[in-house]
Amino acid sequence: MFEIKCQYAEHNEQQCLFICVDPACTSKKRIACFQCFQDQKYHLNHQGLTIEEFQQKVNFRLQNLKKLQTFLRQFKEKLNFIISQWEEDIKKLIFKGNEYLKTEYNTIFVKIDDYYRYESDQTVPFLKFQLEKMQKKIDKIKKYINNFKYYDKNLLAKDINEIKAKAMNMIIKKDGSYEDAIQQLNKGLKIDPVNCSLISLKSTCLININQIEKAKILINYAFDINQNDETVLLLKSKLMLKEKQYNECLKYYELSIEPNKYLAFQKLDSLQKLNYHQEYQKFKQDCENLFGNNFNKEYEDHQKMQTYD
Ligand SMILES: [Zn+2]
Ligand SMILES: [Zn+2]
Repeated sequence: MFEIKCQYAEHNEQQCLFICVDPACTSKKRIACFQCFQDQKYHLNHQGLTIEEFQQKVNFRLQNLKKLQTFLRQFKEKLNFIISQWEEDIKKLIFKGNEYLKTEYNTIFVKIDDYYRYESDQTVPFLKFQLEKMQKKIDKIKKYINNFKYYDKNLLAKDINEIKAKAMNMIIKKDGSYEDAIQQLNKGLKIDPVNCSLISLKSTCLININQIEKAKILINYAFDINQNDETVLLLKSKLMLKEKQYNECLKYYELSIEPNKYLAFQKLDSLQKLNYHQEYQKFKQDCENLFGNNFNKEYEDHQKMQTYD
């Protein structure tokens, strides 16, 4: 790993281990030492990441961008194919139609039947309608991308928090049905379609009304947005347990930035299902050291409530 020493004399050549990612930061020097974050003149109270975390984030974004690039390329090819095929068909039909208009009627009478068997006149409105729908979606995406830079994050957070609170009341205090909560959450997702906590809440509601397939799509979508969001990780690992993908489930505990007790429970469940007895005992001991003496008791309570099968 490269080593960069802080250039500020008063920081005693401390190693720069962090990167300031604060949206409000105006400093030209974003790579910083620990002291830089304690210093009024530089990055005091700024949001920082270790270089490793920063690279992880970049890596994650690259993965997503590459996926999108491949998807766009395939999409373009498919669309080009459909449109050029369609254009060809239309060209043929127009040619034929023109022929019918100028040829002696009686000689081609049989072929006219053919022209109507296609019923192309009826497919045209359908295809046009579908394409218009697609155009609307594309406009929506364009608008979202263009607006994104100009959103006032604080204003956005205030609206979203209100919506979230309302939905939470419906879910926890039963101040409404899960369907009502979903409606509420959809309002928020209209404002901020990539908000992981809204998506997680909606997935939870969907699971509770047994719409598992829809929930699955949403959880995977949220996971593509943020691999480190703890609620997303919990939902994702619960889902994997339900589908008996225990090996897959093991990795979610490691993805969480802060050690998470509930993810630990699910890792233990997976280890048990896989019959990895040694790892199970060792991890359980590690957890007790990390989360405190109460961990085993809480894990037992968790196990009593499980209905994975
Ligand atoms: Zn420094
Ligand atoms: Zn800063």
